[in-house]
Amino acid sequence: MFGEIYDVIVVGGGHAGAEATAAAANMGSKTLLVTMNLQTIGQMSCNPAMGGIAKGQIVREIDALGGYSGIITDKSAIQFKMLNKSKGPAMWSPRAQSDRMRFAEEWRLALERTPNVDFYQEMVTGLLLEKNKVVGVKTSLGIEIRGKSVILTNGTFLNGLIHIGEKQFGGGRAGEKAATGITEQLVDLGFDSGRMKTGTPPRVDGRSLDYSKMIPQPGDDKPEKFSYLNTPVLKKQRDCHMTHTSALVHDLLREGFDRSPMFNGRIKSIGPRYCPSIEDKINRFADKESHQMFIEPEGWDTVEIYVNGFSTSLPEDVQFKALRSVKGFENVKFFRPGYAIEYDYFPPTQLKHTLETKLIENLYFAGQINGTTGYEEAASQGLMAGINAHLKINEKDTFTLQRDEAYIGVLIDDLITKGTEEPYRMFTSRAEYRTLLRQDNADLRLTPKGYELGLAKEDRLKRMEEKLEKSEAFVSFFKNTSVLPEQMNPILEEVQSAPIKQSDKMFKLFSRPKVTMQHMLTLESVSEFVSSNNLDNEVLEQAEIQVKYSGYIEKEKVNADKLNRLESVKIPDNFDYKKLKSLSFEAREKLSAIKPVTISQASRISGVTPSDISVLLVYLGR
Ligand code: FAD
Repeated sequence: MFGEIYDVIVVGGGHAGAEATAAAANMGSKTLLVTMNLQTIGQMSCNPAMGGIAKGQIVREIDALGGYSGIITDKSAIQFKMLNKSKGPAMWSPRAQSDRMRFAEEWRLALERTPNVDFYQEMVTGLLLEKNKVVGVKTSLGIEIRGKSVILTNGTFLNGLIHIGEKQFGGGRAGEKAATGITEQLVDLGFDSGRMKTGTPPRVDGRSLDYSKMIPQPGDDKPEKFSYLNTPVLKKQRDCHMTHTSALVHDLLREGFDRSPMFNGRIKSIGPRYCPSIEDKINRFADKESHQMFIEPEGWDTVEIYVNGFSTSLPEDVQFKALRSVKGFENVKFFRPGYAIEYDYFPPTQLKHTLETKLIENLYFAGQINGTTGYEEAASQGLMAGINAHLKINEKDTFTLQRDEAYIGVLIDDLITKGTEEPYRMFTSRAEYRTLLRQDNADLRLTPKGYELGLAKEDRLKRMEEKLEKSEAFVSFFKNTSVLPEQMNPILEEVQSAPIKQSDKMFKLFSRPKVTMQHMLTLESVSEFVSSNNLDNEVLEQAEIQVKYSGYIEKEKVNADKLNRLESVKIPDNFDYKKLKSLSFEAREKLSAIKPVTISQASRISGVTPSDISVLLVYLGR
């Protein structure tokens, strides 16, 4: 094994590393996954859940391209919810609670079953370089392993420092060592690095909780799933529960503030704004007497419970005392206290759209190392880095996604164009074309691309083609079929819409507010079409969205086309912005540092104004 030259070496077996390994290997690269602990491949460091708002769309996109995160989630789910169902379909977001141990086990088994993957457990402490090209890695035992490309996915482990109250100690995650050597070498090579922080709540013994004092939070009555393939749908589910903090709990927590590393200056780095610790919430929203807490089982059979909403790095005695004052937690027993962790990251403006570093050829970064937070964000970067590492060493064209094609495209473009100074998580609001980027159509958007890459297999493409064909036929049926007033008016009356006086096309009437597919299915000709063409729920949902949102979808497509025209205006490599004196000073600095590939990307860099873009367009002869 050590004499071999790998095509791709992936450092780290978290969400990014696991997807990178699977992608590169499935495309045919001889791939080595080196990770510090083979028992923690795909470990969920924080909450045992995948998906959620905007993140659920990312998991669907990974799946549509041929990645594994969706399949693994379906196999290990204990509860499923489609969030935001009361809003438009662009906002629907799948979320699943997972069995944490099964999730990691399924990942490990999936990778073991993937051809072309070798495994090795050890800490990578450095990179092997020849000039400005990476040619392998060095481990803590001094072993040198050669590879044509290297993907770093070190997560929260680089010089990780864990804080619990006044105690601090090195670690990449509770119970695991921090990784050293890599940051120092990269900084010597000229990379910028920074520090970020994240935190996690205590885990407790479910047998010590009184659920009768909490509000049950069941999964959906008709649970769906993540993968577009034939993965299992949940037949039974485990409930979560909700409880609340109180003024008393806040007072007890405040007693520990002087020993809090957040407030006494020990933690200097910035944490995820949208996942604040409980002490942060109390401090920032001092007038709020109560905060929600979601009590989430860690699996089917384990009694361990994740206390969502109570992330904290206060001293463990303070955590314990305050938690015992929460309704239902009066007799709580701790499994593990909450903690915060600080770690190194590398500002992602140092990367190309392929996630290859600009400084060192064939070296890729993916996941939390790029300043993101979240399993989904990490996994999608891993997938893209794995794909691109394989393509590069095979001298093939790069694979990137545009902002109107995928949340993954938005994520990577945001990272490398704007950078991030606080842990970056995805939101629907970050996407300008969110009506196009829905969870229901990720397969239609991306599976043909995944198939072309050799990642998505034939069965996946066939399923997608059948769904497309059937939903288009159903939409055509609505466009071409008329309905009589006596058939349609009862529906219109029910939704308080004006009655029709003569027959009209179904498409037009179905487009009216509050008329749903369920209403249309009560019309005989519609239900006959459904049964004779054997249409399933996915097709019904797709057709409904295509009818009801056709106006919005068309409008966004027109806007996206406008953007894509700018996308086609390429800026030559090594373009010398310094010589364009009519650019603002700030634009010259930022453009020189970020080196955008297109005018469109240049226009998204903060500090680059429309007049700077006009200067560039004139210079480039447009
Ligand atoms: P990780 O999942 O961290 O995986 C890194 C992997 O690399 C590990 O397997 C490690 O063993 C391996 N590794 C590292 N260095 C080396 C090396 N030198 N040699 C070999 N192997 C190496 N996300 C949220 O969205 N919300 C939260 O509230 C949240 N809270 C968190 C709290 C804590 C305490 C932690 C630790 C993480 C939290 N996260 C949270 C982040 C989430 O866990 C990560 O975003 C996600 O796991 C990142 O995936 P990754 O693959 O980049 O890295």
